Amino acid sequence: MSSVAQTAKITIPPDLLPEDGRFGSGPSRIRPDAAAALAAAANNFLGTSHRKSTVKDVVHRLRAGVAELFSLPDGYEVALGNGGTTGFWDAAVFGLIESRSQHLSFGAFSAKFAAGVAGAPHLEAPEIISSEPGTHPEAVANPTVDAYALTHNETSTGVSMELHRPAADGLVLVDATSGAGGLRFDAAETDVYYFAPQKCLAADGGLWLACCSPAAVERIERIAASDRWIPPFLDLGIALSSSRKDETYNTPALATVFLAVHQVEWINENGGLEWAASRCDQSADIIYTWAGSRSFTTPFVADPAIRSHVVATIDFDGVSADEVAAVLRANGIVDVESYRALGRNQLRVALFPAIPPSDIAALCGCIDYVVESL
Ligand SMILES: *Cc1c(COP(=O)(O)O)cnc(C)c1O
Repeated sequence: MSSVAQTAKITIPPDLLPEDGRFGSGPSRIRPDAAAALAAAANNFLGTSHRKSTVKDVVHRLRAGVAELFSLPDGYEVALGNGGTTGFWDAAVFGLIESRSQHLSFGAFSAKFAAGVAGAPHLEAPEIISSEPGTHPEAVANPTVDAYALTHNETSTGVSMELHRPAADGLVLVDATSGAGGLRFDAAETDVYYFAPQKCLAADGGLWLACCSPAAVERIERIAASDRWIPPFLDLGIALSSSRKDETYNTPALATVFLAVHQVEWINENGGLEWAASRCDQSADIIYTWAGSRSFTTPFVADPAIRSHVVATIDFDGVSADEVAAVLRANGIVDVESYRALGRNQLRVALFPAIPPSDIAALCGCIDYVVESL
């Protein structure tokens, strides 16, 4: 007989433990260096006006750092605002979709945006193309559609997709919340690459950032000037003009802005997106090789080509993943539980750039220890 209460008494030997126990897929591990830098800057930065240069300079560094990180082509602009990715979805419903969008729905997050659009009375019913969890559908060129909604990495299932324009016309809107900063892509294949900084950017939540192509800027400004009613908080025209001044429409969380710029500059100084993506490749290789070589685990995503290198989902067989997660948690290793709504006997592990590959290897060793001890 075993129960979570009893098995939680297993003590993992300290020499097996990772240097940091945070493996959650969002909010995710914040590098101790970044938190220390924030503490050091606190008295001159936190609690100061977001309309003055101390904060505006940091917002400027964030916008410039993101443009460098993603090698944005000329004419692309980095906008930002409050509300996280969920807030940005509502802003997109008002300010980016002209009349009809196509959505690839292959997990909780992509489905949520599609559902939000479907409920909007000023838009036509979206075209929703779905596939089974653990796979992703392909976009299909459709002349009745003016925006294609893709997801770089479906955080709920651990599936990532390559980004390509499905058609010559139509804006390509990419939810890159868990992919941005960890996965390679060509910005020219996207019109709006948007994300929140609590995943690969190792900051806190509450903010959205969007890399907008000239075509996207044109669409935003045209809709904002039209007679469509748009709540100001969700008005991307206002967000764009505020961003150009290195401001947000209303007060942002200054700590989030600080931590995000710290991570973006850390990645850029170390070699940019290629460096960060290679680090995630290494972590992915470690965990998927491990999962493929144990009798009790299998990578959930069958096709290695779409297995995410930023969020790994590992199925368990004959061992309760919940029990393993409970023991790990009791030993200070947290947030590897599966995405609940997926309903599988599974662990989900972030492989974001802030997590060194050596910690992914240590986590695998800890899971082996726990499974042998159960
Ligand atoms: C985390 C996540 C979201 C939600 O982000 P919030 O900032 O919490 O709104 C949306 N999409 C994807 C792909 C995510 O990983």
